[in-house]
Amino acid sequence: MSNQTKIPHRLYLSEDEIPTQWYNLRADMKEQPDAMLNPGTGQPITEPELYPVFCEKLAHQELDSETRFVDIPEDVLELYKIYRPSPLCRAYNLEKQLGTPAKIYYKFEGNNTSGSHKLNSAIAQAYYAKDQGLKGMTTETGAGQWGTALAEAASYFGLDLVVYMVKVSYQQKPFRKAIMETFDAKVIASPSDTTNVGRAILEEDPDNSGSLGTAISEAVEVAVTSEGYKYVLGSVLNQVLLHQSIIGLETEIALNKLGEYPDIVIGCAGGGSNLGGLIAPFMRDKIKGDRNPRIVAVEPASCPSLTRGKYAYDFCDTGKTTPLAKMYTLGAGFKPSANHAGGLRYHGMSPILSKLYHDGYMEAVSVEQTAVFEAAKLFAKYETILPAPESSHAIRAAIDEALKCKETGEEKTILFGLTGTGYFDMVAYEQFNNGTMTDHIPSDADLEKSFATLPDIG
Ligand SMILES: *Cc1c(COP(=O)(O)O)cnc(C)c1O
Repeated sequence: MSNQTKIPHRLYLSEDEIPTQWYNLRADMKEQPDAMLNPGTGQPITEPELYPVFCEKLAHQELDSETRFVDIPEDVLELYKIYRPSPLCRAYNLEKQLGTPAKIYYKFEGNNTSGSHKLNSAIAQAYYAKDQGLKGMTTETGAGQWGTALAEAASYFGLDLVVYMVKVSYQQKPFRKAIMETFDAKVIASPSDTTNVGRAILEEDPDNSGSLGTAISEAVEVAVTSEGYKYVLGSVLNQVLLHQSIIGLETEIALNKLGEYPDIVIGCAGGGSNLGGLIAPFMRDKIKGDRNPRIVAVEPASCPSLTRGKYAYDFCDTGKTTPLAKMYTLGAGFKPSANHAGGLRYHGMSPILSKLYHDGYMEAVSVEQTAVFEAAKLFAKYETILPAPESSHAIRAAIDEALKCKETGEEKTILFGLTGTGYFDMVAYEQFNNGTMTDHIPSDADLEKSFATLPDIG
């Protein structure tokens, strides 16, 4: 015990310890993820072919699998310094409550107005848009964290922002919209009548409550048809995982200081950006054979892309307008149920993580939402942070691993990503507290239906 208490509850690195470069895990992967394809030609997409959609420097980052370290622009670092380094926390109280011999660490990314890790990439993407002399950006948001993060970043760099917000979230989380508007973003409920894609969907199904896939289609349509605008995405893409590597790099520095190394690294996985960022340096060690941590992705049982999806080429959006990515997917036509973890309701998964999972470097588990909120409540009580429903998926898995250690007596070191806070998810907490929360698990027949929407490519 006396030995243990040497490790602080919260370790903050100093400002000058923030890494000045992002780390590109692809440079160390033995095999690369399959190339993104141009849906028109079926051929690997080239950088110029991405220019109509993405900023040039981001298009470059998207396809660059060779540059190991990428300099973080000075202006981005300056903004990082406002809310980074984020703390690495030791969950002493939770460990004690669980009676586990395991050591539980979490990297807390919720200490900024967006309430999540999303700001790490939003700042980078807004910076490159400004650098290219653009007028503005378009994007989608599900739960609202990405839209909020990007609204902050856009307003800082003086860019316009149009956010297509999944209709069900737009209705459930009016205050998310209010924050985005405070940062001068324009927020539109998706599907909307402002795009061809949106109008087509509404014509067929006027009550459509929206999905991330549909919101992406709308945002892309507006970007490619508006002069001076580009589309930006908050997850899934290689460039986003690159920016999020800041999470893992800081964690690695902090753990080194403590003389610790994780036996298990756990993160929730929606599109894979926080997990990809957190695990980057640990996955590098694993690929090189220097270390062998277990790496675990946690997803909702209601949207199980890794655990029940297919590894196939698919569109990143419902309107089938984006490039094709080889990934674990439920099919772009998948209609997720009303699970409260809006940020985990995406049909696909980062191609980088998909490849690593496919090649056996990573495990995946799925958890049901009532079990997730039980973990969230326990965590809130003993660690005094009200976690986001998304993050609570990782908490659930970390607690389960710690309880296994209690049975076996193993003193494992568990690290998980606490991606954000849940202050805008009180409807969900309320349902959990009054016992009306339910678990939605798609049937095999449901999945077959959405697999049928997969494009016919090898
Ligand atoms: C968006 C979000 C996630 C899921 O996105 P990833 O790209 O998989 O990281 C997880 N937690 C929070 C708090 C989020 O906002």
